[in-house]
Amino acid sequence: RPRVGVLALQGDVREHVRILAGLGADAVLVRRPSELAEMQGLVIPGGESSVMDKLARTFGLAGPIRAAIADGLPVYGTCAGLILLADRITDGIRGQQTFGGLDVTVRRNAFGGQVESFETDLDVPAVGAPPVHAVFIRAPQVEQVGPGVETLAALADGTVVAVRAGGLIGTSFHPEMNGETRFHALLLDEVRVRAAA
Ligand code: GLN
Repeated sequence: RPRVGVLALQGDVREHVRILAGLGADAVLVRRPSELAEMQGLVIPGGESSVMDKLARTFGLAGPIRAAIADGLPVYGTCAGLILLADRITDGIRGQQTFGGLDVTVRRNAFGGQVESFETDLDVPAVGAPPVHAVFIRAPQVEQVGPGVETLAALADGTVVAVRAGGLIGTSFHPEMNGETRFHALLLDEVRVRAAA
């Protein structure tokens, strides 16, 4: 069984654990570098990216996560998790850092505040039919996509909301909130590819 961590500093950790376990993975909460070292993949949940950034640095996890990403660890980030995977952010809180790895620029809270939360159906060719029911909560937008980065999904107006590059996947929305499992399945595919290499 693939061992996949969920970064458990803050955010909707439980929902991701449930989805990963449902897909047959060994889902483990990650709060320390020693726990991260055991993982074959990682999920960074939704929540508040600036808080996760601060806690990750406080607990000495930021450096090890950066190193693991550079070493090719497959990682899936939802919402705040996507922000933490982005190489560049706009509208970050003062001094906010990211782990990086995804050559994209992401704008925090790009749709507005909590009351501007919305849900929509998205075509995502990489996961096939049916469309993905996507939940956006104070969600980020991907404003710029680097040359090596694949756009997995965009809104009708062209706004990019899901990307992938190598083993890194990021979505502005929260599949874990409505039992959508196909993005986590993509992550597990990456974990298996890497284990077989
Ligand atoms: N706006 C939050 C942030 O900047 C993300 C919101 C979410 O993860 N649902 O981290």
